[in-house]
Amino acid sequence: MKKCDFRQSGRDASGEEAQASKTQRPIVAVYPGSFDPVTLGHEDVVRRTLRFCDRLVVGVAETATQAKGSLFPVQERLEMMREVFAGESRVDCVSFSGLLVDFARDEGARFIIRGLRAVSDFDYEFQMAQMNRELWDEVETIFLTPEVHYSFLSATLVREVAALGGDVSTFVSPVVLERLQRHYS
Ligand code: ADP
Repeated sequence: MKKCDFRQSGRDASGEEAQASKTQRPIVAVYPGSFDPVTLGHEDVVRRTLRFCDRLVVGVAETATQAKGSLFPVQERLEMMREVFAGESRVDCVSFSGLLVDFARDEGARFIIRGLRAVSDFDYEFQMAQMNRELWDEVETIFLTPEVHYSFLSATLVREVAALGGDVSTFVSPVVLERLQRHYS
């Protein structure tokens, strides 16, 4: 009925679409990880997400779900993340524990962002996406691939190289580099 009224009043379909998009819910996503520490690969994923997302909540996991030793305590991982995205008003950085789907729901997000580097990431990521859908069938996992330079980069590798005194300045932001240097000095 409404459509008919629009046509009669001379409004075209594109005007109607514009009106509809104004009333659409903002696209909110969560990007979870241990970010120990945040690397340029993670940053790349965040910036790509902002191309289609209105608000991104970066969730720094309090406890690692995979068997990887943690270097920085959660508070410090969160501080680094906040420093890195200080100029980006659409990014919120928070810590979380418990089920990822509960965290996403609490943040009003129906999208989970994950980065895919290589086939080696795929098995675990696929299982996690399927499990999260079982737990909450309204959630969608979106996989993004990074800039090719970052496709081999992992926080684990950064930690290992930094621990042995190697130069990781091309893999992390200056604020993160400073913390790593302080940690290993
Ligand atoms: P990491 O695997 O480096 O220890 P996280 O567990 O914090 O890092 O990863 C959080 C998410 O970011 C995961 O989906 C992971 O696959 C993704 N990710 C990590 N490093 C990169 C990268 N260099 N490029 C793209 N995605 C990445």
